[in-house]
Amino acid sequence: MVTRQEILDWCGNTLQVANFTDYAPNGLQVEGCTNIGKIVTSVTASLAAIEYAVAQQADMLLVHHGMFWKSEPVTITGWKKQRIATLLQHQINLVGYHLPLDAHPELGNNAQLAKRMGWVLEKQTGEQNLLNIGCLSEKQSLTVVAAMLAHTLEREPVVVGDHSKQIKKLAWCTGGAQNFFQQAIDEQVDAYITGEISESQYHLANETGVAFISAGHHATERYGVQALGEAIRGRFGVELYCFDEQNPA
Ligand SMILES: [Zn+2]
Repeated sequence: MVTRQEILDWCGNTLQVANFTDYAPNGLQVEGCTNIGKIVTSVTASLAAIEYAVAQQADMLLVHHGMFWKSEPVTITGWKKQRIATLLQHQINLVGYHLPLDAHPELGNNAQLAKRMGWVLEKQTGEQNLLNIGCLSEKQSLTVVAAMLAHTLEREPVVVGDHSKQIKKLAWCTGGAQNFFQQAIDEQVDAYITGEISESQYHLANETGVAFISAGHHATERYGVQALGEAIRGRFGVELYCFDEQNPA
C-alpha cells in the first residue's frame, strides 16, 4: 500500500505539472480513499471507465481526460452528478493529467505514439512544447504511413493529400490538435498527424501540399496514461488495470 499523496507527489514532479497552463485541474480531481492498492487507467473519466473501476474495486482512476473543464458548466447535475456520485460512493480517487501527459518526453501521449510508430523525434516546439517535429527512419508513401497508423491504432485514419507522396519529415500532436496544422506547415514537414480534423484543414492540406492525417483523438491518446500507470506500478508496486473503449472519435 502506498498513500494517495505519495503517488500525487511523484506524478506532479515527474510530469512537471507546475510548468503547464491547462484547461482542467491536473492531479487529484475527486478525493477518495487515502491508501492506494489498485489503480485503473483510462483515456477519459467516462461513466463506463468509472464503472469498470468500481468492478475492479480500484482505489484510483487515473485518466488523461478528467473532469471540470474550463468551458463546462460548474453545476453538478445530470451525467456529471452520476459520475461523481459513483466515484464518491466507492471512495475512488479520480486523478487526471492533461497537457503535462501529452508533453512528457517519455511517458507522454506524443512520445508513446512516436515510439509505437517508429517516428524519430527531432524537437518539441510550439505552445507548451506540444508540437513534435521528427522524421520517419526511411521515406514512405503517404499510403504506407496511413496504413501503419491504421494497423497500430486499429482505426482507419482520415487522410488528406496525394497518397503517393513520399513522406520523410513529420509533425505530430495527439488529440484535438488540428489547429497546430499551420505551424506544422511552417516547419516544412511532409505530413502532419493529429487526432482530429476540422473542415478548414482539408483545404490547407490541398493548397500547401502538406498531408494531413486525422488518426483519432482517443486512438492517438490511448498510450500515455497506460505508460504513466506502468511507471507508477514500477515505482510503488500497485496493482494495475487498463480500461479501454472503442471510441471512434
Ligand atoms: Zn485529448
